[in-house]
Amino acid sequence: MSDDRYETVWPPPELDFNKPTIARAYDALLGGKDNFAADRALADYACQHIPGLKESAVENRKVLVRGVRFLAGEAGIDQFLDLGSGLPTVQNTHEVAQAVNPDARVVYVDIDPMVLTHGRALLAKNPNTSVFTGDVREPEVILGHPDVTRMIDFDRPAAIMLVGMLHYLSPEVVDPVVAAYREVLAPGSYLFITSLVDTGLPAQQELARITRENLEEGWARTPAEIERQFGDFELVEPGVVYTALWRPDEPVDPDSLTPGEQLGMAGIALKKS
Ligand code: SAM
Repeated sequence: MSDDRYETVWPPPELDFNKPTIARAYDALLGGKDNFAADRALADYACQHIPGLKESAVENRKVLVRGVRFLAGEAGIDQFLDLGSGLPTVQNTHEVAQAVNPDARVVYVDIDPMVLTHGRALLAKNPNTSVFTGDVREPEVILGHPDVTRMIDFDRPAAIMLVGMLHYLSPEVVDPVVAAYREVLAPGSYLFITSLVDTGLPAQQELARITRENLEEGWARTPAEIERQFGDFELVEPGVVYTALWRPDEPVDPDSLTPGEQLGMAGIALKKS
């Protein structure tokens, strides 16, 4: 962990407890403790308007776990760049990946400085895991960061994760930003995306609007728009589907999804050449 800016100053100057952040509001939705009144107020407000929002956050975490387990296991990936990683919670990427392969390396990146302060404590004794503060919209900065160049060998297969993150990339930046991350990957690598989706249900665009108005960015995309972000990568089965339907541990009836289960979709794709 190379960034020592926050070593001695608490709270870090970037932290404004009166303004909600994405990471802390998401933590509040998940029932975590790393959030403040403003974050809880926003989470409560959004839950009043969006049925099943909490459940959708939980589903997103569950598919993250299943996806990383697939990547570290069946796909044999041992290097992970987790973009927009969020505040540490239960079953973080490195815990899931390293349970399958103890040598798996994970680099976490998030724009919220609180992720760094909390991640540091969690990762202090884990040499194969690192965390730094960065803006995913600046791929050249992220990919050139010393933690990334030290920990991830892009000449070998790796996984880049934009889990619960794509919908914070505006229409102006999403294509070139995601393309830059696809570009750096070697054949045999994977891209893992989950996103707020737009399949025509009013709650989806309503959630995007609430997010944009309170957290600056928030964009619901159609399944085709999400698929486009995989470029010419080959989607692994079952493709881009509602998160609860992406390789569930127990069979799920696609016709009986709850409102919360219809807010997000997930997909993982392989770079073949
Ligand atoms: N990936 C985790 C998961 O799926 O459980 C966390 C998802 S959370 C909904 C989205 C995370 O993306 C937040 O922690 C937020 O701070 C981060 N984020 C949003 N925009 C970002 C950006 N431009 N650069 C880096 N991180 C960003």
